[in-house]
Amino acid sequence: MLIRNASAVLTGTAGAGARSTARDLRIGADGCIAEMGCSLVPEPGERVLDASDCVIYPGWVNTHHHLFQSLLKGVPAGIDATLTPWLKAVPYAYRGGFDEETLRLAARIGLVELLLSGCTTAADHHYIYYPGIGYDPSAALFDEAARLGQRFMLLRGGATQTRDAEAGAPAHLRPEAFDAMLADIERCVGRYHQRGPRARTRVAMAPTTITISLRDGELREAARAARAWGIPLHSHLSETVSYMEHCREKFNRLPVEVAADNEWLGPDVWFAHLVHLSASERRLLANSGTGMAHCPQSNGRLGSGVAPAPALARMGVPMSIGVDGAASNEAADMLSELHCAWLMHRAHAGSASLPRPEGAGEAGADAVTIEQLVHWASAGGARVLGFEGVGTLAVGQAADLAVWRLDDDPRFFGVHDPAIAPIASGARPHLKWLLVDGAIVVEDDRIPGLDMAELHASARAAVKRLAERH
Ligand SMILES: [Zn+2]
Repeated sequence: MLIRNASAVLTGTAGAGARSTARDLRIGADGCIAEMGCSLVPEPGERVLDASDCVIYPGWVNTHHHLFQSLLKGVPAGIDATLTPWLKAVPYAYRGGFDEETLRLAARIGLVELLLSGCTTAADHHYIYYPGIGYDPSAALFDEAARLGQRFMLLRGGATQTRDAEAGAPAHLRPEAFDAMLADIERCVGRYHQRGPRARTRVAMAPTTITISLRDGELREAARAARAWGIPLHSHLSETVSYMEHCREKFNRLPVEVAADNEWLGPDVWFAHLVHLSASERRLLANSGTGMAHCPQSNGRLGSGVAPAPALARMGVPMSIGVDGAASNEAADMLSELHCAWLMHRAHAGSASLPRPEGAGEAGADAVTIEQLVHWASAGGARVLGFEGVGTLAVGQAADLAVWRLDDDPRFFGVHDPAIAPIASGARPHLKWLLVDGAIVVEDDRIPGLDMAELHASARAAVKRLAERH
């Protein structure tokens, strides 16, 4: 396959290599990028995709999500709540209503949203596991992603003890026994954790929130088990000030220090959020090579704060982007996530520098660039999830890429630098093609074989059912 005549190609790499001079990409039969250049000539029998007036981006790698929440958008009881009351009112209040069919439907909606926003690799932090659940949530999630042709990583969540926010949860939602949890994760590793740079399915050890979900001693044991199996570690951390208060009270430590005490730092670990951090915690993260899933829309929606992502990235923390669950975001859209990050960090940097001494001038507009955001959301994500052959557009890398069309919406007319338009303009362009391993999974904004009207009808019925059950 040959993709030709793009207006611009962003590669996903950082720094000087962020923009390619190539306008054409050739994809080999192995699903990898075989050649990049200008005026490449079609070979006999080669399919040619015309990317005139289009921009090519690497496929996004979303590193933190809760797909089940795709049926819990805009729940009125949580729409103006901060994290803790929102947890009680929305995800914990509704999770008992998720049977296999409902989980599959929610996953399908979220994965379709992700695909249409240009996301080729999805990592889902799923935590509805309990004794006697009666179906296999992990298998259902892998199956839904495979049907859509998406690369998928299960961040296997769960807990061995209940948290305050769960008081009043239905009795059948008991926490798992630690041994049973480990045994199920080991089973998932055996079945789904592919090794190699272009793995299609992977697994991570991901107790829901390390400072809350496990009992004393289990955290270290979980880290050791994960490392023995060769899988990475993930969890929520330092999302709100309550995390710090909880850790001070319970451990007389800060959250990242608790992680350090329990062998939960390192280049094989990444945490979602990391909004509230002391200076010493930032150093602990940077020195250990621990990564981050930055979720700016969820942090904004819940009033959690502005995570210091640009500062952490400058210190060397591997940075990535996650949309987080749609119950605290209302959409699984990697492009709007990046647009939000672009504005949020600039506004924050401008405000943080106040009051400025007279004559110091203006500040903030260089807090984060679009090339940097593309890097975080592609190569950065592949780096924290451990997909080495994914996330950048270069010869030999997987052909996971999005072709964004800029010629059919006046929003994109008049732009001087088309390369930045899909993120800077603040709305999703028409997705002409999305490829995973060189295979077309979206064409002309449509997913082949997907009945959108049927998906909508199913979603409407499920929302009604969930509202009644809850
Ligand atoms: Zn989350």
